[in-house]
Amino acid sequence: MQPIQIDQLIAEFPLLQQLQNLQETVWFNPASTTLDVALADVGLTAEDVAQAHARLQRFAPYLMLAFPELEATEGKIESECVAIPTMQHCLQQQYQQEIFGQLWLKLDSHLPISGSIKARGGIYEVLAHAEKLAVNAGLLSIEDDYRKLYSPEFKQFFSQYAIAVGSTGNLGLSIGIMSAKMGFRVTVHMSADARQWKKDKLRANGVTVVEYEQDYGVAVEQGRALAAQDPQCFFIDDENSRTLFLGYAVAGERLKQQFQQKNLVVDADHPLFVYLPCGVGGGPGGVAFGLKLAFGDHVHCIFAEPTHSPCMLLGVHTGLHDAISVQDLGIDNLTAADGLAVGRASGFVGRAMQRLIDGYYTLNDQRLYDMLRWLSDVEDIQLEPSALAGMYGAILVSRAQDYLNAQHFSEQQLQQATHLVWATGGGMVPETEMQKYLAQGQAVN
Ligand SMILES: *Cc1c(COP(=O)(O)O)cnc(C)c1O
Repeated sequence: MQPIQIDQLIAEFPLLQQLQNLQETVWFNPASTTLDVALADVGLTAEDVAQAHARLQRFAPYLMLAFPELEATEGKIESECVAIPTMQHCLQQQYQQEIFGQLWLKLDSHLPISGSIKARGGIYEVLAHAEKLAVNAGLLSIEDDYRKLYSPEFKQFFSQYAIAVGSTGNLGLSIGIMSAKMGFRVTVHMSADARQWKKDKLRANGVTVVEYEQDYGVAVEQGRALAAQDPQCFFIDDENSRTLFLGYAVAGERLKQQFQQKNLVVDADHPLFVYLPCGVGGGPGGVAFGLKLAFGDHVHCIFAEPTHSPCMLLGVHTGLHDAISVQDLGIDNLTAADGLAVGRASGFVGRAMQRLIDGYYTLNDQRLYDMLRWLSDVEDIQLEPSALAGMYGAILVSRAQDYLNAQHFSEQQLQQATHLVWATGGGMVPETEMQKYLAQGQAVN
């Protein structure tokens, strides 16, 4: 690989100067296009997502047994979706900007089992791996009642195998809890950003936690190298995994059903804008793919990143993807949004989704804390800092005249739009931690 000439790169892409200065930045990608044109970039299809959906259905009876909290949803790991009109009003007041249409919140923050969006991809990948092992060993057929997996015999069987993952916290939580429940030996390599309570919780579940003083990239690299020494160990590769991506993508069709039940229309006259916090990219990328398959070109996806970790914006904007990191620009990758503290984006997701994502923006940590506080004060919903990244999106899009004009939206279409903020984590944050987060935010004035 050629060393990157940063000065030259900034001359070619002046926007990088803003990123380097840690200024809040908005970029709408002029290359974004329709699903029929861009689908081939992804290399995955609606059929792949349908298979992921079917696999989760097969596991639902098992999940219901293994996690009593899933009884109410019959083994389905899914979150609520709620209108937040008071927060919409609050944002409009605070930022002196009208938000056209209606503001909604998708509560992946409160997904069962692990309280974050990682309960989609992370758990799905563990299940897919377990199924493969059991089927290959002749112990399971996909027609079977999967409740049989919840038995001492299967726990014994899975205990011959190991699972490892590198994480800033929430992926480790999902994969650790699920793997340990099935009987796997599981190791989570945690970056310096990972919160102590997440490590404690994992250890209490019998998970081996290895701590690093460096960031996510190092935790993944070390974890991958250690896992490679054990032939029975499967390393879950957050940077490249198609399986994780498909686990997230199932959200699209499910959201479509939820919207139908709520009589929320999405079509040419009722556009849907979705704001997704982005770390390495698998979560928001997979969800966005699922949303595109479900709603076609009527859904507009926007990614949100901290000013200190703008890896996806950097990779897509320059076209360098995983060949550049925020550290190459001298950015420190230190942010209160621990779930988004990633310096180098997934090359797979960056390339797969680059023409399907309308835009990207960055925001500073204080803004995350302020919105965290406001959402708690006015809607009584508590999230972790990362999960607020999408909350600023509706303000930015409402201000983005050039983008809205380029999309040819009429005034009426905009008034009938839905903005969906994807709340990605926070449901399991201990009360004392939450109080500290709230204290960092400014009260509504
Ligand atoms: C992991 C995570 C994200 C982003 O997902 P990526 O796959 O890393 O892009 C967003 N919010 C929270 C709370 C997360 O834990």
